[in-house]
Amino acid sequence: MDIFSFGVHFTDEISCRLHFKEQRDKHGVSCKRCGCINHYWLQNKWSYQCKACKARMSLRSGTIMESSKLSFMNWYKTIFLLSTTKKGFSSKEIQRQLGLKRYEPVWAMVHKLRKAMGQRDDRYTLEGMIEMDEGYFTIEASKHNHETQKAGRGSKTKSNVMVMAESTVLEDINTGKVERQCRYFKAKVLEDHKSEGTENTLKKAIDDEQVIVFTDKSTSYVDIADYVELHITEKSNATTTKETLKWVHIAISNAKRNFVGTYHKIKKKYLQLYLNEFVYKLNRRYFGDKIFDRLIIASITASGH
Ligand SMILES: [Zn+2]
Repeated sequence: MDIFSFGVHFTDEISCRLHFKEQRDKHGVSCKRCGCINHYWLQNKWSYQCKACKARMSLRSGTIMESSKLSFMNWYKTIFLLSTTKKGFSSKEIQRQLGLKRYEPVWAMVHKLRKAMGQRDDRYTLEGMIEMDEGYFTIEASKHNHETQKAGRGSKTKSNVMVMAESTVLEDINTGKVERQCRYFKAKVLEDHKSEGTENTLKKAIDDEQVIVFTDKSTSYVDIADYVELHITEKSNATTTKETLKWVHIAISNAKRNFVGTYHKIKKKYLQLYLNEFVYKLNRRYFGDKIFDRLIIASITASGH
């Protein structure tokens, strides 16, 4: 979906609603009251009516748009902006693009979309060989943090983010050169530097223990070997950066560069949402045009709360 075809497909509120309904019907609508999956469509009310209990449900109901007063057109424009550009947009910039007076509804919409992206990616787990490392992201220092309190307002601190990449080693038959190819990424904010945080994050990212995990020699990874097939550690040096942990390092530096260029400042409690958006797009880097429809589907299936 480029800006021209977006303009052709989505000319007004009605065309956005009809597209949303079409996608929702494909996914299936279930009654909030009785769970029945058969509905009548009340066109003049833009609502579904349950065939069993007669309960009515608006087109937005049960999706992330549920409590939003913004038009479908504004949601669609935002989904377009978020999904089809490599660069992200701050809520402020989206508000400007949409020409809306109030900031809060835009901010809420964008955050819900980022949350939906995260929920979608949480459904997938990593397999095989996994590169894992921590990245330190610059965030606003919180007032509750003793160490940074002295530095005053607007001061910066760092937040630890665990980044994982599923990577496969491929050897070129002719040259014998070994290369790592990457599929899916995950990035999760760690609450503290202790090993439980690392352990829980890794456990949630994998489906079973049949994985090989590569890390550097950091002490926070000492227990990993207990719950994976194999844990391989390497001393941090130029070779690790270029080879063993190549993809996590590329992801970390690209995410940092992206955030600096997009967001004025990042609060710790929203860092995960920015990471969600970055990783969602990274994991779908070969989707091309389809990423727009995928994000519509994600916003239908994600919970609105
Ligand atoms: Zn019902």
